[in-house]
Amino acid sequence: MKRKLAFLMAASLIATGALAGCGGSKDAAADANQDAAADANQDAAADAQQPAETTGGTLRMGTNATFPPYESVDDNNNVVGIDADIAAAVAEKLGMQLEITNMEFDSLIPALNADQIDIIFAGMTITEERKESVDFSDSYATGIQSIIVPENSDIASPDDLAGKKVGVQTGTTGDIYCTDDLGEECVQRFESGVVATQALVNGQIDAVVIDNEPAKAYVAANEGLKIVETAYAVEDYAAAINKGNTELMDKVNGALKELKDEGKLDEIIKTYIHE
Ligand code: GLN
Repeated sequence: MKRKLAFLMAASLIATGALAGCGGSKDAAADANQDAAADANQDAAADAQQPAETTGGTLRMGTNATFPPYESVDDNNNVVGIDADIAAAVAEKLGMQLEITNMEFDSLIPALNADQIDIIFAGMTITEERKESVDFSDSYATGIQSIIVPENSDIASPDDLAGKKVGVQTGTTGDIYCTDDLGEECVQRFESGVVATQALVNGQIDAVVIDNEPAKAYVAANEGLKIVETAYAVEDYAAAINKGNTELMDKVNGALKELKDEGKLDEIIKTYIHE
């Protein structure tokens, strides 16, 4: 594990609602998470990884840095990880300066649409619904939705989640799939996977559905958890750009293709993910 995970646990504000059965206090939990998360995110906001003098302007990237190894915040409050490195490499190719703003995951598309950022690099999965409000670049990585459970859990596959209390990160594909498949009443939403995992450790929920790489990090950082062998879904990650911004899209896809052909994309991913 390359990344330090201490910060993850520092943000251990946990959901405190009484969770009787599936119809637990989803909203209360979400609200409880909101304030601390907002503070933490504000502090980490707009940490720019600033390359040397550039001529092509600033590429304003949005992300949610609770998602190791794609994005997390290091000891110096910089956003680091696969997405930060890929975005930096793209910006360099475009002769642009990269500026990273850290915000909640479900604020990313609204911020993009409000023109507060130019691009999202956030391990964001391409979905048909999101395509209604953003355009996606060519995919640069594959993601898997995994299930985290306590080591002694009887949940061994996605089918076993029926009727259980399942934690997800608000607005993610884990949230969307679980809400569709299990029903709103079984889904407990959290501001981050870290907080959802903490609720699992505390016995407030039965499982967490989240992307596999952060899942591995959360399991490594907490005793007594495991990832269920059968995955929930396989997905494609891509950068999101405002609809109609074809100029930036063409540039970004061109840069991603070059990085792929040069082997740089693989190199970045392999720096963080050791299969
Ligand atoms: N891949 C998931 C999604 O797009 C989660 C991304 C994230 O939490 N950063 O919904």
